[in-house]
Amino acid sequence: MSTGMDYTRGAQWLIGESRFCREQLGKAESVFSLGNGYMGLRSATEEGYLGERRGLFVAGCFNCANENEVTELPNGPDVLGAELTLNGCRFALDTGKILSYDRTLNLRTGELRRSVTWEAPEGERYQLEFTRFVSRARLPLIGQKITLRPISGEVDVVLRSGLNGQMTNSGAQHFLELQKRSYDRKYLQYTSKTNQSGIDFVATQTHLFQVNREARHIPGVMAMGRRKIFGDYALHLNGGDTLVVEKLSTVHTSRDKALEACTTQEIQEYGLAAIREVEALGYDALFAESKALWEKEWAESEIQVTSENPFDQLAIRFAQYHLSIMTPSHDDRMSVGAKGLSGEGYKGHTFWDCDQFVLPYFTFTQPEKAKSLCSYRYNTLPGARKKAEEGGFQGAQFPWESAWVSDGEVTPALGDADLITGLPQVIWTGKIEQHITADVVYGIWQYVQATGDMAFLREKGYPVILETARFWCSRLEEGPDGRLHLNDVIGPDEYKEHVSDNAYTNYMAWWNMTLAKKCLETLGGEGELQAKLADCISRIYLPQPDETGLMAQDATYLTLRDIDLTKYKNQDYVLGIYKDYNAHQLNSIQVSKQADILILFYLLENLFDEKTKAVNYRYYEARTLHDSSLSLSTHCILASDLDEREQAYGFFRKASEIDLGPNMRSSDEGIHSASIGGIWQSLIFGLAGVRLTDGVLRIRPRLPKAISRIAFPLWWQGERLKVMVEGNTITIHNTQRGTTHVYTDCYQSR
Ligand code: BGC
Ligand code: BGC
Repeated sequence: MSTGMDYTRGAQWLIGESRFCREQLGKAESVFSLGNGYMGLRSATEEGYLGERRGLFVAGCFNCANENEVTELPNGPDVLGAELTLNGCRFALDTGKILSYDRTLNLRTGELRRSVTWEAPEGERYQLEFTRFVSRARLPLIGQKITLRPISGEVDVVLRSGLNGQMTNSGAQHFLELQKRSYDRKYLQYTSKTNQSGIDFVATQTHLFQVNREARHIPGVMAMGRRKIFGDYALHLNGGDTLVVEKLSTVHTSRDKALEACTTQEIQEYGLAAIREVEALGYDALFAESKALWEKEWAESEIQVTSENPFDQLAIRFAQYHLSIMTPSHDDRMSVGAKGLSGEGYKGHTFWDCDQFVLPYFTFTQPEKAKSLCSYRYNTLPGARKKAEEGGFQGAQFPWESAWVSDGEVTPALGDADLITGLPQVIWTGKIEQHITADVVYGIWQYVQATGDMAFLREKGYPVILETARFWCSRLEEGPDGRLHLNDVIGPDEYKEHVSDNAYTNYMAWWNMTLAKKCLETLGGEGELQAKLADCISRIYLPQPDETGLMAQDATYLTLRDIDLTKYKNQDYVLGIYKDYNAHQLNSIQVSKQADILILFYLLENLFDEKTKAVNYRYYEARTLHDSSLSLSTHCILASDLDEREQAYGFFRKASEIDLGPNMRSSDEGIHSASIGGIWQSLIFGLAGVRLTDGVLRIRPRLPKAISRIAFPLWWQGERLKVMVEGNTITIHNTQRGTTHVYTDCYQSR
């Protein structure tokens, strides 16, 4: 069954849904989600349906619902809900008839629009339109507009609309209710507090009415239910009249920097003043100021892709849109979650997804935002030191999953049911998936090299680089061969637990320590650490290719049995192999969840020759199920590097379909932030061949047949470049200096 999603309209700026599709409510809520980095709003409907997952997540407001759980981003009060009763009949698309339907997210403006012609069970017809946006200009603001036009005759309308604090995270309630109240029969306010972290949430709302473009004062009958407050607004319309309801809501929290020192009452007063201010402006003016900021961002960051498949252009805009709304760059105590702010998945936690898959986009296109994300890691150093200490190590070890700056490790202890034992599986990642520590450093170093931001390096970069290196030195274990090993780890491929000498981890640890040593050579001092680093760098075990070029992903991988993976490779859903094998059994098979050793070949590309890359690409690609959304972009980049252009293009397209593709359930818990960063990486690092290695930026495009031109911005050393790759020509325009360089015949197919 098709998803009803439609990408063919509006010059590749619009993502549409051409029919009401109950099976994909969750997917559409994520794909169409709105936000501004301060908050993310899932695109649930006003009227609500069974199976929906309404969600409003405010960045950084972590809370631990009870002691058996880990901290997570709580689902805030619902501000969107609005129930329309028309001549006694509740508007709902699963009753009556849908005569026309369209829902469209405009990526250029950040507005979601839903237009419906609906025939009620009794036969009356109505035209309805719902629009909404989350403001870029005023971070706590959400604007909604509901337009109703009765087609077939007069109608008594009752709108029930308000604030609903009954939201949970899959049943876990994070809030204590503090107060609900209305002011002047006009403003609604719902105040709650997270039960463990004690963060105040104040949602304030107002409704404005117009009939046939004239403002109408409709006093609400205010009512309160358990954990909710709403108004009933009643009026009569004649056939052909047009009712417009503007619903404006703000969500302030005591985590907002400006409100941190305020009492709850002061935040409530602030919320009320803010809603009065926006009320005076109205939806259209508020939307216009938000749209202007979107336009500015697009003007600076737009990427043009000339492709036989118009979807390619849309895919990169979709990626840029989501990268923008998921990133809390207003506050460097916050970072990007594995699902951004678009759902409950992974509890709002930050993984290496951010450092290796999302951050590069900002480093090369909006360095200020990259700096904020790098500062977040610096700000979490106390938690990283605590984690190292708890494990008996020195220095700083970054948590596999990270939340509030001081939380340290927040990975849950138990996960899904084990197929064989029937018990929840133990989650080992928080204890032994340790490569994240080097990933954080890699991201920061890339930022420093691309921007030349020496002030950041001095203040925040050096402490991170040195403390992490100190951790690796203490973590290495001497083996009988006199070499230093990293035993009992999980590499990026999570289908292999408790392995030794995972090549990715060992090389990245080596790289991390080597970088620290170089830094110390510049900084001087720390003689003991310098000596320790010199010893560890010379003795760490680094797997080498065999005579055929093959490298072992870890100490045992190549000795495991091979099975026929065709069935799993052809499945159009992920993690299917868990239906046949549990984690323990997967450990004994040559099967990888995601790219592992292959990431190494592009992150540290100068260390490996082309033959090694090619041999390993073929070997591991055949054994990789791409069961993590992070996998495809790496395979795209490596295929491009190996000049396997059409394969690379195939991976780019698949990566673009992780959220936008036909799978109806894959995005229920939120979009996949790493795969979204991966869409940009596939295009720019992969097909356009951009790479920063050892301080040198290079561009070696490998355009596939379908794509004739890619034009994209790139920030380099504080200057904004406009790069165009077309045919055999690269044109680089330096917008600051006004210079243009054209390079012809710069890449040939082998
Ligand atoms: C992921 C791990 C994660 C765990 C708990 C698993 O699905 O693969 O990386 O740590 O969930 O969040
Ligand atoms: C992947 C990890 C990733 C995590 C969060 C897991 O499924 O295996 O690499 O960090 O999801 O996206």
